[in-house]
Amino acid sequence: MKWVYRFGDGHAEGRADDSELLGGKGANLAEMCALGLPVPPGLTIITHACRHFHDNNRTLPDDLKDEVRNGIRHMEALTGRTFGDTVHPLLLSVRSGARASMPGMMDTVLNLGLNDLTVEALAGDSGDARFAWDSYRRFIQMYGDVVMGIDHEMFADILEDEKARLDIEQDTDLSVADLRDLVARYKALIEDELGQTFPQSPEVQLWGAIGAVFSSWKNARAITFRALHDIPDTWGTAVSVQAMVFGNLGNSSATGVAFTRNPSTGENALYGEFLVNAQGEDVVAGIRTPQSITEASRLESGSDRPSLEKLMPDVFVEFTTICARLERHYGDMQDIEFTIERSKLWMLQTRTARRTARAAMKAAVDMADEGLISRDDAVARIDPASIDQLLHPTIDPAARRDIIGAGLPASPGAATGAIVFTSEAAVAARKEGRDVILVRVETSPEDIHGMHAARGILTIRGGMTSHAAVVARGMGIPCVSGAGSLRVDQRAETLVARNITLNKGDIITIDGSSGHVLVGAIPMIQPELSGDFGCIMAWADAARRMSVRTNADTPADARAARSFGAEGIGLCRTEHMFFEGTRINVMREMILAENEAGRRAALDQLLPMQRSDFAELFTIMQGMPVTIRLLDPPLHEFLPKTEAEVRDVAANMGLDPVGLAQRIDALHEFNPMLGHRGCRLAISYPEIVEMQARAIFEAAVLAARQTGAPVLIEILVPLVSLRAELDYIKSQIDTVAKAVIGEAGIAIDYLVGTMIELPRAALRAHIIAQAADFFSFGTNDLTQTTFGISRDDAASFIATYQAKGIINRDPFISLDFDGVGELIQLGSERGRQTKPNLKLGICGEHAGDPTSIWFCEETGLDYVSCSPFRVPIARLAAAQAAIAQGRSQSPQHLPQALVSNNGVGVRQ
Ligand code: ADP
Ligand code: MG
Ligand code: MG
Repeated sequence: MKWVYRFGDGHAEGRADDSELLGGKGANLAEMCALGLPVPPGLTIITHACRHFHDNNRTLPDDLKDEVRNGIRHMEALTGRTFGDTVHPLLLSVRSGARASMPGMMDTVLNLGLNDLTVEALAGDSGDARFAWDSYRRFIQMYGDVVMGIDHEMFADILEDEKARLDIEQDTDLSVADLRDLVARYKALIEDELGQTFPQSPEVQLWGAIGAVFSSWKNARAITFRALHDIPDTWGTAVSVQAMVFGNLGNSSATGVAFTRNPSTGENALYGEFLVNAQGEDVVAGIRTPQSITEASRLESGSDRPSLEKLMPDVFVEFTTICARLERHYGDMQDIEFTIERSKLWMLQTRTARRTARAAMKAAVDMADEGLISRDDAVARIDPASIDQLLHPTIDPAARRDIIGAGLPASPGAATGAIVFTSEAAVAARKEGRDVILVRVETSPEDIHGMHAARGILTIRGGMTSHAAVVARGMGIPCVSGAGSLRVDQRAETLVARNITLNKGDIITIDGSSGHVLVGAIPMIQPELSGDFGCIMAWADAARRMSVRTNADTPADARAARSFGAEGIGLCRTEHMFFEGTRINVMREMILAENEAGRRAALDQLLPMQRSDFAELFTIMQGMPVTIRLLDPPLHEFLPKTEAEVRDVAANMGLDPVGLAQRIDALHEFNPMLGHRGCRLAISYPEIVEMQARAIFEAAVLAARQTGAPVLIEILVPLVSLRAELDYIKSQIDTVAKAVIGEAGIAIDYLVGTMIELPRAALRAHIIAQAADFFSFGTNDLTQTTFGISRDDAASFIATYQAKGIINRDPFISLDFDGVGELIQLGSERGRQTKPNLKLGICGEHAGDPTSIWFCEETGLDYVSCSPFRVPIARLAAAQAAIAQGRSQSPQHLPQALVSNNGVGVRQ
């Protein structure tokens, strides 16, 4: 095993794609070096050494020491300095770097190799004693903190103390004598704290720092970060050891950071800051106020201190040329760190810049227009999850804000409304057309209807994955969770902040993107769905193969989904139409009827209601397919539950409450989700299907007459496991269709298909396909029935499974490729054996999840159908999957398109 890769003087042993071995930082240092950019020479110890370290009781491989020593000799040859030398000492920086950028790991140690002798040598060599002692005190401070584990505050306190005593403000005002004093005090601190002296041997310092980097891979912060970002424990970190260059060598020296474009707006203008006579992270640490790199941004910020452009024009030109070159080379916006030592520019880091969703859109569109990347590349590099931010109203940045509290930014977007404290109140307000914010200590599944009715949700307890947060994100409703500085008094119905008490009905605004809670209605900016966003979406549409439909039960959902670019309805759950207003009573009459005649009487009343709902949906979706699922849930879901409710309903309907209670008892099921529901209802009560089919076809006739556009009906039969079930129901649908279409005298096309949501249906897909025009994979139920886990009860143990590493992801959120996925593949293959053109779609929650969409592309499904707010995400994710799997439909497609790994799922 080769443990060490060198770089320096225009040569490097690795490249940018070697980040698996060299870590992101090491790989990009190698790449910059190979490009001939001015990079101080160095070496990178590969990530395998980190694994070896942890697998072998924190020891390093034997041959590593020699390789590092040889690497340092090479650096010595290139710099003309010697590590530990007392005339021309070589100083080193020791830097950590995992494959993915990972805050939480060890900080960089700079100026390593200094001791009581080499500091004098550095002073003589550079002719600047102040610089040498400034470097030494920095080194002891950093090493003492990150390697020896002494809280950096203790060093900072001494520094502040010293500055106060000397009555100076800037670190740069410390004299050589002051710095010597500081060094002595730092050393004394270490002796006091640890009972050991600061290591004087450069060799010991170096191995101490390398060991500390590897150890930091397993520190608590790093472990938490990895868990949150799905970074495998096995990756390990690399260590780069690099010759120091000095930004603190007087006023012709400086250090800085820059972005090749503006990371918050995406504007194509270099954006960055620097500090004269400074080192390392002084710029970001906020020790002094940094200066602008460009003159343009200096003017914009109104600063009177010179820009780099003015101060060091030659270095500025060299730097901007390098920035442009790096951006071209990587084909993406870069985040760059640099140092200037006595007017000589050195490049210390480059990486793909983090950016806001808005900046990502703008930069991608601009780069494609500049010919830097293809349109497919532009589409591939937008993180689908991030565009959620762009789909919701946001608070006008110019607006006055009266912030009374803050929590977690749990679901993006801002919302204004009157405070309500119960879900019932939220539902009631919604019926009256009032906007409300549902305020709860925390939410539970019983609050779903209230959450759905609210404009926004505020909870006092709970994190980013609390019930409120997860459900709100799924619904596309803004949510602030865990606003712990606020208090809710449920009984008094008050929301108490530090200096204000709000009552039910008072208006508040929540900002789910920042976590702020504000008093009153705040001006909003509506989402901008054209511009760069529209452009990326158009390019995504050109690239993707699958179509994207929506799950919509109401006209409002359907309209929202169309505005987000849905190409039809993939699932309309008809039962939702029965919950509204007085309909529920008619529905109950139907369910409680003693016989078929009673049922038919109630169904006759439901018919016109369903017909007008369907007609509206067909009109909104004109020319696009609309998939309507027949009644699915167990009937008892429509019946009252508590005793009080039973009494109310009985009184309303003129029934005997005891008789009603008995009928409800009779409908009770032990496992309703596996009980009398789906097509099983249709077989017991064919008159329900008859009514629904009649409503659908009559609505189609109405809509077709009204709009003149064709109506594309797809009737979906739920919970089929036997072909005979489908046959029975399909023949009824056909009979009704024939009658209605015959009466109307116009042609209406329709398909009858089935949900594949039971393992038996997937297995018998070739037989079921004989009777079905299409399949829609209902992955919510298919996941429940494949695992034998009830989705409603899973919360109590799925988290434990994840914590114990039994599963990586919640299979109800991200499709289980291997198990449920295999059933989908099998169902698809077998179905298409019978009918090669069988239309295949997916309509579970997974249809809005990028990883699952990746799988759908791979399986060759025709469409995905997700909730309205996820439609843009699905359009983008479907395009990325097609691009990465070599199936882009875009005429602009270039074969060398960068492949995004956003969509790649974890298999197990
Ligand atoms: P991080 O991962 O926190 O960005 P880095 O390894 O990039 O850590 O180091 C932080 C800073 O330390 C750099 O931005 C740079 O200013 C300084 N630094 C790192 N290596 C050197 C070096 N060889 N010479 C001078 N400064 C360095
Ligand atoms: Mg850092
Ligand atoms: Mg850095």
